[in-house]
Amino acid sequence: MARRFFIETFGCQMNALDSEKIAGNLRHSGMEPAADAAQADVIILNTCSVREKAVQKVYARLGEIKRHKARGENVVVGVVGCMAQLEAGRVLDKAPFVDILAGPQKGRVIAELVEQAARTRAPAIDLRMDEDPEPLETAHVLRTSRWRAGITISEGCSRRCAFCVVPMTRGVERCREGASIIQEVAELVSQGYLEVVLLGQAVSSYRDPACRDVTFARLLRRLAEIDGLKRIRFASPHPGDFTDELLEVMVSCPKVCNHIHLPVQSGSAKVLRAMRRGYTIQRYLEIIRKIQEAPRPMAITTDIIVGFPGETAADFEDTLRLLDEVQYDSVFSFKYSPRPGTAALSLKDEVPEAEKGARLKVLQERQKLIQFNKNAAYLGQLMEVLVDEEARTRFALAGRASNNKVVNFDGPLALMGRLVPVQITGFSANSLKGVRLEDRPEGS
Ligand code: SAM
Repeated sequence: MARRFFIETFGCQMNALDSEKIAGNLRHSGMEPAADAAQADVIILNTCSVREKAVQKVYARLGEIKRHKARGENVVVGVVGCMAQLEAGRVLDKAPFVDILAGPQKGRVIAELVEQAARTRAPAIDLRMDEDPEPLETAHVLRTSRWRAGITISEGCSRRCAFCVVPMTRGVERCREGASIIQEVAELVSQGYLEVVLLGQAVSSYRDPACRDVTFARLLRRLAEIDGLKRIRFASPHPGDFTDELLEVMVSCPKVCNHIHLPVQSGSAKVLRAMRRGYTIQRYLEIIRKIQEAPRPMAITTDIIVGFPGETAADFEDTLRLLDEVQYDSVFSFKYSPRPGTAALSLKDEVPEAEKGARLKVLQERQKLIQFNKNAAYLGQLMEVLVDEEARTRFALAGRASNNKVVNFDGPLALMGRLVPVQITGFSANSLKGVRLEDRPEGS
């Protein structure tokens, strides 16, 4: 009987795609997916180390996974991804039963590592940082969705934000050749995929290594020419290289979704400098103004860190003022978490944990109100929704509009993976609800 594998993913969209690559590699080697860890011979934790909380979650999970090793010596446990890259020694100290340690972008070699660990009965370790662009292509990807696909366009990051561990875990930025990206998207479209999500740490700094004139904006324009492709998303651009050309492409190519996730991190000029983000708050607001004045309406979302070292109550007020000014459609907000190897570790004036928590709560409450008021404006609008999942509400279905708003509505499960027109009839701070166009009562 074929060996069975189970992968648990922690962290971002990029990790989710890395897990699909690992699954593709394992299946290509003859293994089959298992429904859960208890039924798997190979258990892989694909990890995140952006914040300490994510790391602690993995250690807690390893404590539970340990019992699966008791099922027999053929059970293989792997810890892969950013945490393995950053703290392999600590993982082995805390969980000496781990058989595989591999950094991110190792999807192509996981099956080999499983074989090696089984053969040698010693940990199989691959923490090499790949510098050449070749590894960005992956022959086998076992995708979880049949209509939305993540695509790696770049790996790593060459910025040195003071809080961020990513350059240490994923290495310097390497971009994938445009022709290879276009080919993968065209293949996915021929398999029936409607939406692609272009992924990289800072996608807006993309340059085609085969033709340096091809910027991210030009890549988007080329992808938009692919017949049958309905939607293109990307995550995330960096404010430091968000160009007028990129905005112009978003305005003129309806296939490019009208949603921009532009991480700001803080509204305080002083904190932004200390974070080494490489832009001023004035420059950030100038980009936001251009987006808001564009002829095509765009949803704008962001990431914010509260409690960065040296952030005073006045700095935090600047961030709250930024929320009021921009009126974001949604905000991912985090308490600052000190990370190994980052410049911020040497900064003084740490903000106490309780104060970080209090600031986060204030920020999230302020933002919730903004979102509630913003979502009210969608009442009566017709939105095209890519049906994604069974809704977690009393509605049957949920999906996303082009601007990334979650829309809940009723309809048959057969609509999964289809683009459906929905008229908005209600809202909350986090989602919209509506009625399928063909189900609307007469005269509405
Ligand atoms: N590459 C993107 C950028 O720099 O704009 C962000 C990628 S990161 C995986 C996602 C978010 O996690 C960041 O935008 C930031 O808000 C948050 N983050 C990163 N490092 C953090 C830290 N040390 N503590 C708290 N939040 C952090």
